[in-house]
Amino acid sequence: NVGQITADMIEMLSKKSFPLCMQHLHQALRQNHHLRHGGRMQYGLFLKGIGLSLDEALKFWRSEFTKIMDGDKFDKQYAYNIRHNYGKEGKRADYTPYSCMKIIMSNVPGTGDYHGCPFRHMDADLLKQKLRAQNIGGEYLDKIMIDLKGNHYQLACTHYFEAVHHLSLDTHNGINHPSQYFDDSQKELN
Ligand code: SF4
Repeated sequence: NVGQITADMIEMLSKKSFPLCMQHLHQALRQNHHLRHGGRMQYGLFLKGIGLSLDEALKFWRSEFTKIMDGDKFDKQYAYNIRHNYGKEGKRADYTPYSCMKIIMSNVPGTGDYHGCPFRHMDADLLKQKLRAQNIGGEYLDKIMIDLKGNHYQLACTHYFEAVHHLSLDTHNGINHPSQYFDDSQKELN
């Protein structure tokens, strides 16, 4: 599905169909016009997976990063990595987007990082605030909080999916990959 998504569609799609981890990265990028390596990898490969072509990816990242640096610096320091993710540099491997398990289990985010899984890595009170701000409350919020207490992060994400798409609780078959979240969301909306 490469080429289906263009840079100017990302903002709208992020609000409708991105899982919370990718919304979080997108907002941080828009706010700071920058993401550190872990975030660029997690978000960049996700965007590639949902169908953003290399040219559109370069356009997308360039337009944010050049709000705080000149184009020359971007081309020298960051464009290589983006091409690399698309298998155009280095070993020319075709890198695949990270699964939930990988995001949850590896590379714990530090201060100034925005990668990771919010259900696993975000402070529970802050997460609750974020969910409330998205109008997620009632039985959905209760379920999510119970999931978190039991360390069932992907289940929390599944209940979040149900809340966002106005599905009954425990009717979705479970989120195990951010790309799957996106595909399932697009199916619900179309
Ligand atoms: Fe992202 Fe997976 Fe965490 Fe959901 S469970 S927020 S898709 S990493």
